Amino acid sequence: MDEHGEPDYLPISMLNQLEYCERRFWLMYVCAEMEVNAPVLEGTLQHERVHSGGREQEGEAVTRRRVYLWSDRLRLAGFADLVEEVAGALRPVEHKHGRIGRWLNDQVQLCAQALCLEERTGRAVERGEIFYWGSRRRLEVTFTPELRARTEAAAARAFALLAAGRMPAPLTLRAKCRECSLEGICLPRETAFLEGTGEGVRDE
Ligand code: SF4
Repeated sequence: MDEHGEPDYLPISMLNQLEYCERRFWLMYVCAEMEVNAPVLEGTLQHERVHSGGREQEGEAVTRRRVYLWSDRLRLAGFADLVEEVAGALRPVEHKHGRIGRWLNDQVQLCAQALCLEERTGRAVERGEIFYWGSRRRLEVTFTPELRARTEAAAARAFALLAAGRMPAPLTLRAKCRECSLEGICLPRETAFLEGTGEGVRDE
């Protein structure tokens, strides 16, 4: 913690929550709320399978499991599920329990891992992959300048929110709330009703 009571480093995984919804980030990071429903439990068990650590080599390809990464510049720290190295190219791989979503939160988390990996190794990390257990599909993610900028902005926003010290308002986007495991704790519709801000709620 610094002299203002803010964390020195934020868990990389929290950028995923923040990119999805600032209020979700606040509930999970500040309030330590976690709703363990079936998909969340399934994801935890799947993560435990890949989180056993270690190093494997197959031909020229090296896979390292559960790699600790951090960035002093962005004040982020956390684990990458896997870091693959093929022909000298480093590539973070993240496992997710669901299916490919329409939001960018998983990609922002992966990009944060790449930025940490670059800072730790001094090597360029151009691509990564997200493996979705729900659909058994890999999504290749290119770390474009836009995605890098979005990720850095998310990190800055997280620290700004913590410095402001106030829980963000609920989203007005119902589609996200419907897919959010914290809806029963967050109560977005009830909060919007009480605060008189429910008219702006959108379905998409
Ligand atoms: S229910 Fe909606 S507003 Fe509340 S944390 Fe989840 S996504 Fe955010």
